Amino acid sequence: MAWRHALLLHPAASDDARTDFSDTFTAIDPSAPALSVGELSTQRGDGIFESIGVVDGHALEVEPHLERLAHSARICELPAPNLAQWRQAVLAAAAECPPGECVIKLILSRGVEHGPTPTAWVTVATAADNSGVRARGIRVVTLDRGYDIGAPARAPWLLLGAKTLSYATNMAAIREAHRRGADDAVFVSSDGFLLEGPTSSLVLRFGDRFVTPEPGAGILHGTTQLSLFAWLAEQGFDTGYETLPVSALREADAAWLLSSVRLAAGITAVDGDPFPFDADFTASINRYLLSPRD
Ligand code: PLP
Repeated sequence: MAWRHALLLHPAASDDARTDFSDTFTAIDPSAPALSVGELSTQRGDGIFESIGVVDGHALEVEPHLERLAHSARICELPAPNLAQWRQAVLAAAAECPPGECVIKLILSRGVEHGPTPTAWVTVATAADNSGVRARGIRVVTLDRGYDIGAPARAPWLLLGAKTLSYATNMAAIREAHRRGADDAVFVSSDGFLLEGPTSSLVLRFGDRFVTPEPGAGILHGTTQLSLFAWLAEQGFDTGYETLPVSALREADAAWLLSSVRLAAGITAVDGDPFPFDADFTASINRYLLSPRD
């Protein structure tokens, strides 16, 4: 990852009268140490984050990302982020992006142990080249997430549905997918329902209808999936949220894993079996997703 820029956000109360928060964040050297050893983000993964795609200097879908940051903060009982401050920091970060694709990360941690405030920062890096994977697609394996579809409601302290910094299990799932000869994974609940990828949302196509698992089932509501559904509706397709049994994946006419930086990756194999991949339609989805979306 080629780091290009980083900003540290200082505590700034939300204040309706104030519109300029540019004096509340400062540029720091992205390659120099910046965090205290007492940071709870590094000690416990106790914090939340967002990854925003940037294309030719345009940060994509900033508002849905800010709304999800606020949603994750509520679930994790972190102080409400000052969205005007974050918005301005994101735009300042995007201004540092060269032509091509970059990724901006927003990180809000509970702060230093016994410290008074959360720690907040923004990073900018050049994105990996995802053009090959968008064109060729990905092989996936289904992996048990280890909880049933009722777990998020029964055990809210699992923080399912928040984009927390604790992604070690998500990364382990991707390593397991690689061990099984695939590129990525689709999590399924222990009682047999489709959930999401470790870093992506799942969308299935049945004829002219596109469906995705209900975000209420302890999965993230993907900003890319939301944006794609709006575009599909404009093209005259039907879209919806459903509780989908694992068997639905094998019955679909096509399927994609969607995320803010890789964008749409069409599925070409499920658990070692070939799966229908529509290269042309996937290319048209990615042309839309690469456009300057707000
Ligand atoms: N689900 C999980 C677990 C993720 O980590 C991500 C993205 O990072 C997504 C879904 C897709 O979200 P988005 O489209 O907003 O990137």
